[in-house]
Amino acid sequence: MADVKVESKAFALLKDKIQLIKKQDQAIYLVGPIQLPVNLYGETVVFQWYSWLNYDEVTEDYEKIIDHLASANLAEYQQSSVLVYGDFKEADDALIRLHSICHTGDIFGSKRCDCGFQLKESMKRIKEHGAGALFYLANHEGRGIGLFSKAMAYVLQENGFDTVEANESLGFDNDLRNYDDAITVLKNLRTKPVTLITNNPEKLEALRNSGMHVAGRTALWGDVSEYNQKYLKTKIEKSGHMKAEGTCPND
Ligand SMILES: [Zn+2]
Repeated sequence: MADVKVESKAFALLKDKIQLIKKQDQAIYLVGPIQLPVNLYGETVVFQWYSWLNYDEVTEDYEKIIDHLASANLAEYQQSSVLVYGDFKEADDALIRLHSICHTGDIFGSKRCDCGFQLKESMKRIKEHGAGALFYLANHEGRGIGLFSKAMAYVLQENGFDTVEANESLGFDNDLRNYDDAITVLKNLRTKPVTLITNNPEKLEALRNSGMHVAGRTALWGDVSEYNQKYLKTKIEKSGHMKAEGTCPND
């Protein structure tokens, strides 16, 4: 399908909402902010939402990029996004969560993992803190193995494999996630210090290595049940997740 010319009236509205973030010889196009009222535990909380697109062509001719969208079949691919709260750019401290997509946990509320709980809880903490951002990383399903492979890993887990053994027996490394794009977008939105919500030392390290000023880390445990005890134990024993002091094991 050939490119379709964007209507000039539409482009006039969009052009100031798009920005190019250069990443080596590639481009990240960020669109937003868009007001997003969210139902958070029964209360309506207004976040500012952005989504981004990775693209080979680096240009500030956004019209050209938009013209390409209709034929790019983007629904077949995943795009990530970020929910921003408060005066994110200027607040002295801001809470950050780099949340990996979890189709089963975030959407269906599966109790096999603690992702759904962590998603909502992070949004709540960010709101309570007054400023922060939740990055929802859409290419991180099953620690980067994809949804179909994750279903296979679950079959293995139902037959005694732990999370790490299941992924490795399918030929994957235990953790394939990469935080570079999210951190590139973060730096575009804020350069002041951030506090990371995580139990995962790799996320903390990725952020520190990027040169971002990390003021600290805050743990996120909870929602332990009979269904996820083994999963959470594996995270601590095999994936190096930091156990919270004085609480049950339960990113
Ligand atoms: Zn999950």
